[in-house]
Amino acid sequence: MNYDVIVIGAGFSGAVTAQQMAQAGKKVLVIDKRPQIGGNMYDAPDENGVLVHWYGPHIFHTNSQRVWEYVQQFSKWFPYEHRVLGRIDGQLVPIPFNFKSLDTLFPKEKAQEIQKKLLDLFPGQRTASIMSLLSAKDETIHSFGEFVFEKVFLHYTAKQWGMPIDQVDRSVIDRVPVVLGYDDRYFQDTYQFMPEKGYTPIFEAMLDSPNIQVQTNREAGTMLKLDEVNGVISLEGTPFQGPVIFTGAIDQLFGYAYGPLPYRSLRLDFQRLETTSFQPAAVVNYPNEEDFTRITEFKKLSGQELPGVTTILREYPMAYDPMAAQGNTPYYVISDPENLALYQRYVKLAEKFPNLFLCGRLAEYKYYNMDGAILQALRLSDSLLERKSL
Ligand code: UDP
Repeated sequence: MNYDVIVIGAGFSGAVTAQQMAQAGKKVLVIDKRPQIGGNMYDAPDENGVLVHWYGPHIFHTNSQRVWEYVQQFSKWFPYEHRVLGRIDGQLVPIPFNFKSLDTLFPKEKAQEIQKKLLDLFPGQRTASIMSLLSAKDETIHSFGEFVFEKVFLHYTAKQWGMPIDQVDRSVIDRVPVVLGYDDRYFQDTYQFMPEKGYTPIFEAMLDSPNIQVQTNREAGTMLKLDEVNGVISLEGTPFQGPVIFTGAIDQLFGYAYGPLPYRSLRLDFQRLETTSFQPAAVVNYPNEEDFTRITEFKKLSGQELPGVTTILREYPMAYDPMAAQGNTPYYVISDPENLALYQRYVKLAEKFPNLFLCGRLAEYKYYNMDGAILQALRLSDSLLERKSL
């Protein structure tokens, strides 16, 4: 095949761009270094037939009608509202912290007083950020804020990010609000669904086109050569003029020229159990006592009914090291000013190549949710397809 476009990485960013290009009649080569497609969305049944997300739990939620309509082309979806419990002071309470959590952990009158004050202070709001509670002048709300901050955020965040909470980007903390009512859903988005047969079949459907060739177990570093002086990218020795959409880690693409970009990694500890149900929710967070942050029970995400077996995952955050045996998967970008400045240096390098496009969580060094990654990939595809030269 004579390719018009090269896509590096078969996660959502890569699969969406490849699918959009192929649909427009372009011939696309997709390469991925892993043996399978799907990136960190990859799921497959384990030995007990439990559908497991092998790179951690992924729940679809979006306010974007475009994204929701787009993903429905590749799968049937069932309504799924994600609910998370957190173990606080020995009790399981809804996370985000809501009025039920309050009722459970506070004496009745105190809980009622706090609820009333919250509704007075934030009229018409469904949620408030933890920081807004902490900065409240009212003493009751302020100390309630301190309680939630300490019991839900402080230690979880220190574990998750390996640094004190005041060094973590505010937008990360704001992902999880305090809910001003009894809504116990983890997300507030308009569209909340899960794919009927899992995520991997979606990737198979997206990439199933006579215009797309997928090659797995292929390292971009060995297939592509980047000539910085002339701004030319070669594919196995031949200069390639078409768009090269890169969705991997940008520091790796440039051989860590300015040193590695920091990421946070995870050790994923899967356990198969001979019991029908392990915990009362799909995800239980452990903000305080344990070394892991959360336990996911996969059957409760997929709705599978498999009596006598279940599979759980404990997530242990850890430092990222691309060369180490463990912790070599970059899961989370750590976006602080210093790291963003380093990222910008790599962007400058990338700009030497007029046909190189960066897309996705790793390549853009951005904490995208699934829907954000899909939308960004659709937008990049739109802009590439508008170009006359493609
Ligand atoms: N967080 C927390 N306690 C919790 C849940 C989340 O402190 O019980 C904080 C933590 O800093 C985490 C961030 O909120 O990194 C975002 O949480 P989210 O569940 O969105 O993270 P993800 O699912 O992307 O790992």
